[in-house]
Amino acid sequence: MKLILLGPPGAGKGTQAKRLEEQFGFVQLSTGDMLRAAVAAKTDIGKQAEAIMARGDLVPNEVVVGIIAERIEQPDCKEGYILDGFPRNVAQAEALDAMLASKGTELDAVVELKVDSAILLNRIETRAAETEGGPRADDNAEALKKRLDVYDEQTAPLIAYYGKTGKLKSVDGMQTMDEVTAAIVAVLGIKKSKGSVLSWLTGRG
Ligand code: ADP
Repeated sequence: MKLILLGPPGAGKGTQAKRLEEQFGFVQLSTGDMLRAAVAAKTDIGKQAEAIMARGDLVPNEVVVGIIAERIEQPDCKEGYILDGFPRNVAQAEALDAMLASKGTELDAVVELKVDSAILLNRIETRAAETEGGPRADDNAEALKKRLDVYDEQTAPLIAYYGKTGKLKSVDGMQTMDEVTAAIVAVLGIKKSKGSVLSWLTGRG
């Protein structure tokens, strides 16, 4: 299954993607994690991305599209994957559609984690206060605010973009982590069979 998790910073995409990976074996592809790894390894891409990420802006489309194009070719992605943090604007979404179409395939679903933005701002400010000077250079109040603004301006339009395709499913992201996971599993109609073999049933199955 090819799935996108969509939602603002702090909505819990990474947490939910990891849970789905553990429970169903889908590979989590987080462009944020991949870029942070590139920064840590001081690769050319990492050097290019470091300052942009630290201030909460988007890394150029061709960089992330290139990273994803290469990654989804790997054998572990054959059975499907969860995109977390990609696409982040309409141009990236169009590039992804083109990439998949050229392989004769398409997305199965886009899951939007719906969250209350006022509560979210509070949540990320708390996270910023707790982690200031911590492992993520962009976890300071200013960069977090910037990431939320970038989400509203560039990423939120993807809700309408995918809404038109009929693939968009919305889940209440303000519930407990377990409830959110259960809600995602329910909207996707995925079932785990005994032998841990995944059966992917479309519709109400
Ligand atoms: P968040 O917690 O804000 O969802 P991520 O870990 O997904 O953060 O991303 C961190 C940073 O990495 C972003 O603010 C951006 O600079 C960069 N980044 C990640 N994914 C993309 C993407 N698809 N396009 C451009 N930049 C990206």
